Amino acid sequence: MSLFNHPEFANHEQIVHYFDKTTGLKAIIAVHNTNLGPALGGCRMWNYKSDEEALTDVLRLSKGMTYKAAISNLPLGGGKSVIIADAKTEKTPEMMQAMGKAVEKLGGNYITAEDVSTTVEDMINIHKFTNHVVGLPTEKEGLAGGNPSPFTALGVFLGLKEAVKYRLGRDSIGGLKVAVQGLGNVGYNLCERLREEGAELIVTDINKEAMTRAKNELDADVVGLDEIYSQDVDVFAPCALGGIVNDKTIPMLKAKVIAGAANNQLLEVTTHMNALKDLNILYAPDYVINAGGLINVYYEYDARVNKHSNSEEKAIEHIGRIPVTLDEIFSMADKENISITAAADKIAESRFMNNNNCTEKHTEAA
Ligand code: NAD
Repeated sequence: MSLFNHPEFANHEQIVHYFDKTTGLKAIIAVHNTNLGPALGGCRMWNYKSDEEALTDVLRLSKGMTYKAAISNLPLGGGKSVIIADAKTEKTPEMMQAMGKAVEKLGGNYITAEDVSTTVEDMINIHKFTNHVVGLPTEKEGLAGGNPSPFTALGVFLGLKEAVKYRLGRDSIGGLKVAVQGLGNVGYNLCERLREEGAELIVTDINKEAMTRAKNELDADVVGLDEIYSQDVDVFAPCALGGIVNDKTIPMLKAKVIAGAANNQLLEVTTHMNALKDLNILYAPDYVINAGGLINVYYEYDARVNKHSNSEEKAIEHIGRIPVTLDEIFSMADKENISITAAADKIAESRFMNNNNCTEKHTEAA
C-alpha cells in the first residue's frame, strides 16, 4: 500500500498501525500535525471493507482535526484513530484496554476521545492504560458525563446568530425561521436554544419520536425528509449528515444562511461553496461552529493534567469566542474576494504552520 504518495497523506507526521493478537485489536493512529500541541481526535470504530479504506478515513479525519483545533485557537494538533471492527459484534472491554496501551505508547503525542461507535465506557477502559484520553465522566456526572453535544450545540447556536447578524443585519433571532435537519444530541439542543430566544422552527428527522417531541415541546412544524431544503426560511441548519449541500439540494434552498453542526456539509467544497456564493447564501463553515465539543474536551484534559478546576466555565468562555472567529473569516473572505472556506483554511494554516498565535502552551501529562 502506498503511504507517502497516498492522496490523503497531507504531510502527516506519524501514522502507526497496531495489532493485538489477544484481543483482535486492529487500529491505525494518525497524527497530522503537532506544531500547536498534542494531537487530539476521536477513536472511530467501523467495519471497514479494507485496510486501505480505514487508512483513507483516518488520514482525512486527522487532517480535519488540525484545522479545527487551529481555527478554534486551541493549543492542540490534529489526530484521529480508527479501529477496524464491528462495534456490535466484535467490541470488548479488553479490546478497548489494548487501544489504551496503544495510545500510551505514543507518550502523549496523541490524545483520544469518543467518536462514531465508541462510548464513554470505552474511554474508561482506555483510561485504565493511559492518561491521554478525554470524554471521561466526572464523579458528579456519572456515565452520562463526557457528552460533548451540549457544548457543540452552544457553539453552533452562537455561530448561527453571528451569521444571521452578518448576512441579515439582525441582532435578535425572535421570529427568525430556522429549518433544522436532524434532532439528535446536537440538533435538539440547538432547537431548544433557538426556541428559547423566539425563533420559529421547521424540523425533520428519520426518527418520528424526535419529531413528535419537537412538535409538542418546541411548537416546531414538522416536514418530510426531502422537504426540509425548500422551506421558506432564513436559516438552514444541517445537524444530521454530511454532503447534504450539493447539486441537487442547492437549487431548492431559500435560506440566506447555512449554519449547522454536521461535519463536511458541502459535498464538494470548492464547487458548492462557489454555488452558494453565487446565490448570496452565507455559509458558516462547519468545522468552525461545531468545535464546541472539542473545546470542551481540551479544557477537561487541561484541568486533569494541570490540576485546574472550573474547566466547564473556561470551555464556555472559549466557545463564546466562536462568533469573533467567524466574523474574522467572513470579513477576510469579503476583503480578499475569496471563498469563506478558503478564508477559514487560510487562518487555520497561518496558525498551525507558523505556530505564532498560540499563547498558552500545553503541559504534557505525567
Ligand atoms: P446524533 O446521531 O445524535 O443525531 C443525528 C440525528 O440525525 C438523529 O436524530 C438521526 O435520526 C437524524 N438523521 C439521520 N439521518 C437523517 C436524515 N436523512 N434526515 C434527517 N435526519 C436524519 O448525532 P449528533 O451528535 O447530534 O451530531 C449531529 C451531526 O453533528 C453529525 O454530523 C456529527 O458528526 C456532527 N458533530 C457532532 C458533534 C457532537 O458533539 N455530537 C461535534 C461535531 C460535529
